[in-house]
Amino acid sequence: MYNCRVFKANLDPARATVMNKRTFIGLFGTVIASPILSRLSAWASENKLKNWAGNLEYSTDRLYSANSLEQVRNYVKKRSQLKVLGTRHCFNNIADSTHNLLSLKSMDEVVALDPAAHTVTVDAGMTYGQLCPYLHSKGFALHNLASLPHIAIAGACSTATHGSGEKNGNLATAVSALEIVTAAGDVVKLSRQRDGEAFRGTVVGLGALGVITKVTLDIQPTFMMRQYVYEDLPLAAVKDHFDAIEASSYSVSLFTDWQNQRFSEVWIKSRDEAGQAFDATPEFFGAKRATKNLHPIAELSAENCTEQMGVPGPWFERLPHFRMGFTPSAGKELQSEYFVPRQHAVEAILAVERLRDQVNPHLMITEIRAIAPDNLWLSPCYEQACVTIHFTWKQDWPAVRTLLPVIEKELAPFKARPHWGKLFTTSPDKLKSVYRKLPDFIQLCKKYDPQGKFRNEFLSTNIFSS
Ligand SMILES: Cc1cc2nc3c(=O)[nH]c(=O)nc-3n(C[C@H](O)[C@H](O)[C@H](O)COP(=O)(O)OP(=O)(O)OC[C@H]3O[C@@H](n4cnc5c(N)ncnc54)[C@H](O)[C@@H]3O)c2cc1C
Repeated sequence: MYNCRVFKANLDPARATVMNKRTFIGLFGTVIASPILSRLSAWASENKLKNWAGNLEYSTDRLYSANSLEQVRNYVKKRSQLKVLGTRHCFNNIADSTHNLLSLKSMDEVVALDPAAHTVTVDAGMTYGQLCPYLHSKGFALHNLASLPHIAIAGACSTATHGSGEKNGNLATAVSALEIVTAAGDVVKLSRQRDGEAFRGTVVGLGALGVITKVTLDIQPTFMMRQYVYEDLPLAAVKDHFDAIEASSYSVSLFTDWQNQRFSEVWIKSRDEAGQAFDATPEFFGAKRATKNLHPIAELSAENCTEQMGVPGPWFERLPHFRMGFTPSAGKELQSEYFVPRQHAVEAILAVERLRDQVNPHLMITEIRAIAPDNLWLSPCYEQACVTIHFTWKQDWPAVRTLLPVIEKELAPFKARPHWGKLFTTSPDKLKSVYRKLPDFIQLCKKYDPQGKFRNEFLSTNIFSS
C-alpha cells in the first residue's frame, strides 16, 4: 500500500518544480559513481533523492554505490537496515528506506553469454537498454520487454514487470538463475533447474530476500519485428472479439481514455517470420490502420516512440513503446495497474468503462495488455493468464488516491492483483487473499533475512502485517 508521507512533495508545487528530471539524473549519476559511502548532505534540501516520476522522495540520502560482489557483501554485513535501489522507476515506496540505500548501478557488465545453453548472465545493475543491443549483435534476443528499456533487469524482475502478448510471460519468467547476497552477507546461487520452489519464490522477490548481484536470463535467436497501429477500435469489438484481438499477434496493446465507447489506439507488434507475420489489412475489427507514427496519447508527438507503420526492425526496437535514446514520458505522471484473470477480461474492462466519467478527468491514458501464466510465487500471473488494466494518471495524488479504491472495488469480484511497483490502495488482507503463496514467501524471507534487514515500510505493511 502507498505511504502518504512520501507523497508530500507532490502537494508542494514549489518542491515539484525545483529541478527538472535531466538535471536530477545527471546529479544522481555523478554522486553514486563514488565507491565510498556517499552522505549527500551537501545537497540543497530540495535536491533530495527522488524516484523517476518525482512523486516520491526517498526517506534517506544515505546512498552507497557498490562496484563489486565483495563491496556488496561487506556493506550488507555492516548494516542493520537497507534497501537496494534499482533505476527508481517504481511509483510507490517499495524501494524506499529510512536507513540506507544501496545502488548496483555501476555493476552493469555482461558476465557470460552461453550460446549452447541459450542463456546470458549479467550484473544486476544492468538495464535492458544496455543488454539488448549487445544480445542482438551476438545473434540473440529476449522474449519480451516492458514499455521502456531504461529499467534495471533486477529491479524489473523483482516486481514482475511485464510487456504484452498472451503467449509471453512477464519479464521475470526469463530468469533461469540468480546470485543473491543474503542478510548475513552470504552468497546464494539459485537456479530454475536445481532449486525448484525456493527459486520460484525468489525471482519476484520485491527486494525482500537480499541483494541480487547477478541474473541469468533465457535467450533465443534474434528476430525482426514490425509494428502497426490502428485507430478507433469500437468498444463493442472488444466486447465481442477480445480473444481474437489478443490472438492476432505476438504482442497487442489497447489504449483508451475511456471516452466515446472506443479504444483510441491498438498497437500490434508482429514477429517478421513465416507463420507469425500479422496481416496488416486496412481495417482491424472496425479500427483503421494509422497513416503515420503515433504516441499512445494521440495528441503528443510520436518522436519518442518506437518505429511503426510496418517498418521492420530488431525486436528491441519494436517491443518497447518508447525508444532508448529519448525521455520516455509525457512529463509528470503517476501509474496504477491491475491484473485480472484472463477469463474475466471483458467484464473487468466494462466495469472500468462504467467509471469513465470519474476516471477520465485524471487520466492520461489506459493500456490493456495480456500476459501468459507463470509459476513465480508473487507474480500477479501466478498460475493464471491475465489481462492488465493500466492507468497513467496526471500527477495529482489527492485525486488519484480517492479514485483508486473506487476502481479496486469494481475489480474486486475478479480478484484483481495490483502491480507491485505502481500505486494501489488494496489492503494487506486483500493481498493475502489473492496471493496464495504469501505465507510461503514470508517463510522464505525469514530464511534469508531473519532479522528483517531488507524490510521497509512497504514490505512491513503489505507483506509482513498479514
Ligand atoms: C515510464 C514507466 C514505464 C513503465 N512501464 C512498465 C511496463 O511496461 N510494464 C511494467 O510491468 N512496469 C512498468 N513500469 C514499472 C517499473 O518499470 C517496474 O515496477 C520496475 O520495478 C522498475 O524497476 P527499477 O529498478 O527502476 O525499480 P526500483 O524502484 O528502483 O526498485 C524496485 C524494487 O526492486 C528492488 N531491487 C532493485 N534492484 C535490486 C537488486 N539488485 N536486488 C534486490 N532487489 C532489487 C528494490 O529494492 C525495489 O523493491 C514502468 C515505470 C515507468 C516509470
